Amino acid sequence: MKYLKAKILFTLFLVILGVATTVTAYNIIHEKHEDNTRMAEVYKSVSLNYAQIIDDTIHFYTARANSNIRSPDVINAIRAGDHNTLYRLILPRWEVMKNENPSLIIMQFHQANGTSLLRMHQPNEYGDIIALKRSMVAHIHKHHTSISGFEEGLQGLAFRILVPIIDHGDYLGAVEFGISPPYLTEKIHRYTAYNSFFLLRQNILGAFRHIDRYFPMGDYIAINIPPKFLPLMNEYKNKHKILDNGTVKYGNQSYAISGIPILNYLNQPIGAVMFIREVPDFWTHAVSMILATLFITLTLMITLGLMINRTYNTIANAMNFQELYSQSILDAIPSPVIVTDGDKLIAANQTFLHYFHYESIKAFQRVHKCVCEYFEAGDTEDFLMPTNNDLRWTQYVSHHPNIHHKVKITIDGITTVFDVKLSVLHFQEQFRYVVIFTDISLMQALSITDQLTGIANRLHFSMIYEHAINVARREHKPLGIIFFDIDHFKRVNDHHGHLTGDTVLKQVASLVKEKIRKSDIIARWGGEEFILLLPDTYIEETVQVAETLRLAIENEPFETIGKLTCSFGVATLGENESSEELLKRVDDLLYEAKSKGRNQVVQ
Ligand code: GH3
Ligand code: MG
Ligand code: MG
Repeated sequence: MKYLKAKILFTLFLVILGVATTVTAYNIIHEKHEDNTRMAEVYKSVSLNYAQIIDDTIHFYTARANSNIRSPDVINAIRAGDHNTLYRLILPRWEVMKNENPSLIIMQFHQANGTSLLRMHQPNEYGDIIALKRSMVAHIHKHHTSISGFEEGLQGLAFRILVPIIDHGDYLGAVEFGISPPYLTEKIHRYTAYNSFFLLRQNILGAFRHIDRYFPMGDYIAINIPPKFLPLMNEYKNKHKILDNGTVKYGNQSYAISGIPILNYLNQPIGAVMFIREVPDFWTHAVSMILATLFITLTLMITLGLMINRTYNTIANAMNFQELYSQSILDAIPSPVIVTDGDKLIAANQTFLHYFHYESIKAFQRVHKCVCEYFEAGDTEDFLMPTNNDLRWTQYVSHHPNIHHKVKITIDGITTVFDVKLSVLHFQEQFRYVVIFTDISLMQALSITDQLTGIANRLHFSMIYEHAINVARREHKPLGIIFFDIDHFKRVNDHHGHLTGDTVLKQVASLVKEKIRKSDIIARWGGEEFILLLPDTYIEETVQVAETLRLAIENEPFETIGKLTCSFGVATLGENESSEELLKRVDDLLYEAKSKGRNQVVQ
């Protein structure tokens, strides 16, 4: 019982723990998945925005380039290599464009021979063969098609758009716009709210090698990196491969760093736009989730544990009460009552213990295995035995509900006959027998005993008679029967009164009882007729017994009346004779004795 409670609680705790762990694990996995999805979405959005910004910038400056060279004056100045005229013509437009976009740091005209014709941002620097230093310039001179991409030049690193100047099929050179990198990162920030910077291969610095302008990271240089992210990038550099996406923890904050690849004008990868975003630290989040679950789980466990404990105690108390209740009902029954599993005693009432003189069930069990140890066999009647027809007594009784079961028990020399009533409780493969022993000794005595003479009455005889015949047949033994009747008894009554007649009847009965064996049975058939059964007795002996009785009565001095005689019919059970036939035969023999003159034995 004690362990049952512990078992229930333990199982419950395991279930709660199991469910909580599963839910938490699911949430963490789900969260992680969500996190990855979110990250992928952000990455996609920044990528698209970046591509769009680059695309717009290229279109915008290609259009600007074309609009600037469209006038014949400009074309002529380029064709003539007239630096001063070109400067004069372009200057107003340059100023407008500078106003329009302060990040526009370069506007340069290149001549097809590779020299720089005009730098609007540095008008006095011209005539140098820039195509030797800058591969993008060399490339457009060779291929005469627009190109764009990051390249280092005199002004440092810039995103450059080079547009060819073609007049009447003649390639005259190219016009170049250069945008400083912050232009792009600011746009990214404006569109996506993420901070970004460029991480480009050192080899794009080409002939200029202005490495000291940038933050070196292995083979890469970080361009336009916000100062607050410098320590972060140092951390990142130590943990991840450059350009790899990853998360870095800095201070109390986690940052996700992702890179969108950048290609140069020849479509070769040269680095990435790295963008940084603050992210909630996944594990901090997971730990707080676990702690919250733990807290809820513990609260749930304690609450449910207390509830179960309480319910259990209530049930246990109710069960205790139920036990007391059952016991008190048992104790209230005036007959011995027991509960047994068919083998050992489980419960018993006070009447039972009192009857057997035991203090408690335990005391009884110390001495007896089974109450059936007390069961006695009967001489003439069938009483229940510990085993009947190979069945335990409890089983036998439960299998034969229609038979009147009786047991005979002797305690302190007093024999009591009990009627046995049994009910079976079958619960979860277990049997319990509730047995009530009702004392029927008195009833038994009253119903089967002749009230006047104290010997068996006719009812009792008829019960015994069948049994005796069965036993004799089964055991192949003879059975003697004597039927006798007092001679002229009517006269006794008539002359001495009925009471004297009664006394005579009693005296005859006790006289006969004295003379016969213990195993012989005497019963009052009715009136002044008596019947005797003599088991295991042949006819000669039976006749002898009858003769002895006849003489004994004849010689008995009866008070008041003096002498008395009886007539006897004697027989033994014939081989195929029925009980009725035998009775009829012995009755006829008695009649014969009467008619032959009474006071004699006829066989
Ligand atoms: P027989 O020799 O032919 O048997 O004559 P009998 O007078 O004995 O027989 P009968 O059947 O004529 O009379 C029996 C008498 O027994 C009649 C009845 O009043 C008497 N009797 C029967 N039962 C009792 C009893 O319990 N007490 C007394 N006092 N008399 C009884
Ligand atoms: Mg008579
Ligand atoms: Mg008679």
